[in-house]
Amino acid sequence: MIAILLGPPGVGKGTQAKLAAAANGWKHLSTGELLRDEVARGTELGQAADGYMSRGDLVPDDLMLDMVVARVNAIDDKDVLLLDGFPRTFEQADALSAKAPSGSIRLALYFSAPDSVLTSRLLGRGRKDDTKEVITHRLGIYHKTTAPLVAFYLALGVLSEIDSDRSVEAIQVDTVNLVRTHLDGSDPS
Ligand code: AMP
Repeated sequence: MIAILLGPPGVGKGTQAKLAAAANGWKHLSTGELLRDEVARGTELGQAADGYMSRGDLVPDDLMLDMVVARVNAIDDKDVLLLDGFPRTFEQADALSAKAPSGSIRLALYFSAPDSVLTSRLLGRGRKDDTKEVITHRLGIYHKTTAPLVAFYLALGVLSEIDSDRSVEAIQVDTVNLVRTHLDGSDPS
């Protein structure tokens, strides 16, 4: 199954996905990490993505889809794939619905926290795209372009919200429990 991890930058999706994947033998695909790796290796995709990422803009959908779709398509239903940072636009969400094996998207975890909490977490993280100006830009893009996907997955009946203004441990308990309860393909409600 595929569990989509939705939520603003700095909410802790990546941390949660890493911990949950390591402890349970699940797969973790972070599009941000894939892109940073492409940039570090100086690949064609990395060179194309670098400017968008440094400014805090989204990398264009066509580049993202090439990178993600083949990996998602190959998923076996015995696997659990935590999809971290994708989709971020409606076009990506539609492509994912079209390419993922039928019935595999059983859960969209929405990690939520106030912007003030996110900004201070991001400033403490020290990544290249974590300057005050770029953070404000990324949060603006999140609210305009990515946040509407919460309603999209709610309408599909797969959304669960996790209050992420809590300890890493408390959020992890909810994350793992929610994924486990959706493992058997039973009705998400
Ligand atoms: P993240 O590590 O998820 O915060 O992603 C870091 C940066 O990679 C983002 O600010 C975007 O520039 C880019 N990125 C990651 N995932 C996507 C995506 N699904 N669509 C477009 N850009 C993305």
